[in-house]
Amino acid sequence: MNIIDTIYIDGAFVAPHGQERMVLLDPATEREATTVVLADAVDAQRAIAAARRAFALTSRAGREQRMAWLQRLHEEVAAAEPEIVEAMVAEYGGTMAMAVGTARRAAASFASARTILADYPFERRAGAARVTMLPHGVVGMITPWNANAGFIASKLAMAIAAGSSAVIKPSEMSARQTEVMTRALHRAGLPPGVFNIVTGRGDTVGAEIVRHPDVAKISFTGSTAVGKSIARGAVDTMKRVTLELGGKSPTILLDDADFARAMPFAAMAAVMNSGQACIAGTRLLVPASRAQEAQELVVQAFCALRVGATHDPQVDVGPMVSRTQWERVQAYIRKGIEEGATLLAGGPGRPHGLERGWFVRPTVFGDVRNDMTIAREEIFGPVLSIIAYRDDAEAIAIANDTPYGLQAYVFGGDLARANRVAAEIVAGRVFVNGLYDAPEAPFGGFKQSGLGREFGVFGLEEYLEPKATMGHDNPL
Ligand code: NAD
Repeated sequence: MNIIDTIYIDGAFVAPHGQERMVLLDPATEREATTVVLADAVDAQRAIAAARRAFALTSRAGREQRMAWLQRLHEEVAAAEPEIVEAMVAEYGGTMAMAVGTARRAAASFASARTILADYPFERRAGAARVTMLPHGVVGMITPWNANAGFIASKLAMAIAAGSSAVIKPSEMSARQTEVMTRALHRAGLPPGVFNIVTGRGDTVGAEIVRHPDVAKISFTGSTAVGKSIARGAVDTMKRVTLELGGKSPTILLDDADFARAMPFAAMAAVMNSGQACIAGTRLLVPASRAQEAQELVVQAFCALRVGATHDPQVDVGPMVSRTQWERVQAYIRKGIEEGATLLAGGPGRPHGLERGWFVRPTVFGDVRNDMTIAREEIFGPVLSIIAYRDDAEAIAIANDTPYGLQAYVFGGDLARANRVAAEIVAGRVFVNGLYDAPEAPFGGFKQSGLGREFGVFGLEEYLEPKATMGHDNPL
């Protein structure tokens, strides 16, 4: 079994003060895979102290220096692609496509931050004032287990570009992905303390980062419930917060869409990362006039999905990350049946031939009303709800009738009409007629999907605070 018994503080791999051991199971076999020794609040304090010392350096490092650091981080993370992929596949059952995409995006985050930094105007005028954009200080980064390398990279890249230092607390369930990532980041050879990585529980290490007065900002990706508790805790010391939370994203098929062309995208949007994605399109809105046709195509697409252990690159849907998550998804499938939705594909239990591992049957419900639990709550598994609408206005109303607002997908034949519908959707990102990689576009949610944005210039500015100086050109 793999043992992870170090954390990363002040440029060195050190034994944690925390003593708790946690065993992580391989989700595809339920066998014990990794033992991790978890950090505790004392470790968080040490990491914060190291980051605080390093901030004296990062905040004064010039643009060229920060660009050089980002370049080295980019090179090392790019070189670690095979290990990152291997860890994602083994640790949480990420599909090969997801793992490769995440590893590449992780490396690209540093290159992209470097490009933005090259001409970002840190100093500008506002009337007679000179405005300087300044880094916050120590940034606490709290990340989930899914696509952990991507979240660590995108947050750290922007913090370094801004001139901050970091304490990163990845999910305790992603110790192996974190270890691989930490080794790659370490090889970049940045000065000690610029980033520190302490894997531990949310209620110990996470809570200490939220409480500690020397942490100036928190960037969090995870569930809406935890995000709310972090925002509440952060306000006592008035920390700045960026929250990337959950979603219940709509995919709207307009009645003039070519369903046969749109459906592979719609299915992929629903089951990406085995459905364990905040941006998954889990509500499929179809015109009532073509509901039957849409249902048949979705069922076909779902029945063709290959479920299994994800070291096979042909597999589309891997296991759920844990028994808890598997049970949660099962409970939602049962709830959908109880609430009167029509089970069109999948259902409770494991897929045929997969008796071990946290595998679920990719499931499609028809005749779903938007007030049913399966249409309102984030399931975080491959479960799709089909909801019929009468006209565009009703499609928009249903799409927006959700506490979330992270992402949406619109498919239509008349592009102008599809864009009109897209303009009415309350979501941080809307994809029209396809799935796109858009690393410079702002990423984040309206409503309870979060606060603030990541990626690109918008992402960088979340790590900067304006300071105005008046009279700077007025000699006495
Ligand atoms: P989670 O909210 O349970 O945990 C996320 C992180 O928060 C973990 O590191 C956890 O240890 C930490 N945490 C837990 N309690 C804490 C506390 N009291 N104080 C500080 N930190 C605490 O989420 P998860 O199960 O790891 O991930 C799944 C969730 O993340 C889903 O809801 C999903 O939608 C969301 N997510 C959002 C995005 C996005 O970018 N919007 C991306 C991926 C996942």
